[in-house]
Amino acid sequence: MNLLLMGLPGAGKGTQAERMREKFDIPHISTGDMFRAAIKEGTTLGIKAKEFMDAGNLVPDEVTIGIVRERLAKDDCGKGFLLDGFPRTTAQAEALEQILADTGRTIHFVLNIDVAEKELLARLTGRRICRSCGGTYHIIFNPVNVEGVCDKCGGELYQRDDDNEKTVATRLQVNIRQQQPLLDFYQEKGYLRHIEGSQHIDNVFKEIEEVLCQAVAKENK
Ligand code: ADP
Ligand code: ADP
Ligand code: ZN
Repeated sequence: MNLLLMGLPGAGKGTQAERMREKFDIPHISTGDMFRAAIKEGTTLGIKAKEFMDAGNLVPDEVTIGIVRERLAKDDCGKGFLLDGFPRTTAQAEALEQILADTGRTIHFVLNIDVAEKELLARLTGRRICRSCGGTYHIIFNPVNVEGVCDKCGGELYQRDDDNEKTVATRLQVNIRQQQPLLDFYQEKGYLRHIEGSQHIDNVFKEIEEVLCQAVAKENK
């Protein structure tokens, strides 16, 4: 099952991807996570990406497309993949079509998680992430049992550098501008499915599961 997860920053892509990976056993590929890992390791890619990320801007297409091409060539993507946060520009979407066509693959569904813009600021500034397992929480909407400690693994929680009010505002603007052409692109190809993302996390997941059942049926045809 080859899937894309779309939605503005804070829509719940990471949260839902975590559940989807557990349930469907396909690799979760998040370009944001890959950049953050590169920054932590201090690689050339990380150094390049950091300046854009800190400002809330997109990392240039050629860099981003390069890392996705490499990642999709790995063996574990043979059984499918869940791309999260890529593509974010039409150039990236076109490059992805080419990468997949070159390797005899295609996208099955694009799930767009819709959330009203006004909900996103509070979601992003209240987001907390586990340093050890990457689990995502929210100080109000999805709190941990013991403050600062991950429920799943006991790891320490932290706040992302770019989840501050100023950078969030830029990220939202940048992504809102880029989003519509992408939605049009996938609508035209017939891949696009909308998920109501303002519901409780469990109900968002239920809606996604329903769409994925259709995806499995389509793949088995
Ligand atoms: P994205 O990956 O799309 O940027 P996340 O999955 O990291 O989004 O979610 C952003 C924040 O909103 C996190 O703190 C998460 O716990 C919270 N969140 C996710 N889904 C919901 C939801 N349905 N309702 C309320 N808060 C949510
Ligand atoms: P969000 O939680 O805002 O959805 P991500 O973790 O997906 O954030 O991305 C964090 C940052 O990484 C973005 O603000 C951007 O700078 C960079 N980034 C992630 N994916 C892409 C992409 N497909 N194209 C360009 N930049 C990206
Ligand atoms: Zn954890």
